Amino acid sequence: MKIFVATKNLKKLTELKRILEPMGFEVLCEKDLEKPLSEVEETGTTFEENALLKAKAGLKETGFISVADDSGLCVDYLGGAPGVYSARYSGEHGNDDENNKKVLRELEGVPMEKRTAYYVAAIACVFPDGREFTVRGECHGHIAFEESGSCGFGYDPMFISEKGCFGHLSAEEKDSISHRGKALRLLKEELKKYIQG
Ligand code: IMP
Repeated sequence: MKIFVATKNLKKLTELKRILEPMGFEVLCEKDLEKPLSEVEETGTTFEENALLKAKAGLKETGFISVADDSGLCVDYLGGAPGVYSARYSGEHGNDDENNKKVLRELEGVPMEKRTAYYVAAIACVFPDGREFTVRGECHGHIAFEESGSCGFGYDPMFISEKGCFGHLSAEEKDSISHRGKALRLLKEELKKYIQG
């Protein structure tokens, strides 16, 4: 059975392939299309809404079962920001360095016990017959006082999890507790049910 992964992010594609291929899916992605995947405007107010928008766009372009993810960091002291704006928090899309600096600036003087935060990953799956579902993984922790480590990406150098700062964890250590790892494992379970039933 063919499944389309609606993302331009090669890291996400690799992670999704790792789950989907052993399940017997033939994974298709942007490079299998005749033209580049259209940019989807992320107009949703929740991670689930944005993941669904991207998955639906994938289904529309390919006609195959499509999956897409949306993720971000929510800082409690900042009322849940950067949230769905995580990738573009400092204005420019994907400027990790500026995004991190902005969060650290906004938390200046805030003590550790008030620096709680969590990552969210929502994955949406839509079917040609109209069925759809989303799964969500969360990983709770704290925002450090400064960045450290060179592992991971995005906000990882300042996110302190139960296993330590994400900036210092191997990919396997991060996968075992991360929002995305959890969401991917749930996706696998849910997909099994949908394919069988
Ligand atoms: P998306 O591509 O729209 O899902 O944007 C995700 C954004 O959230 C990224 O650009 C990062 O800023 C942030 N983010 C999501 N997951 C992670 C993670 O595992 N580590 C660090 N940053 C993350």
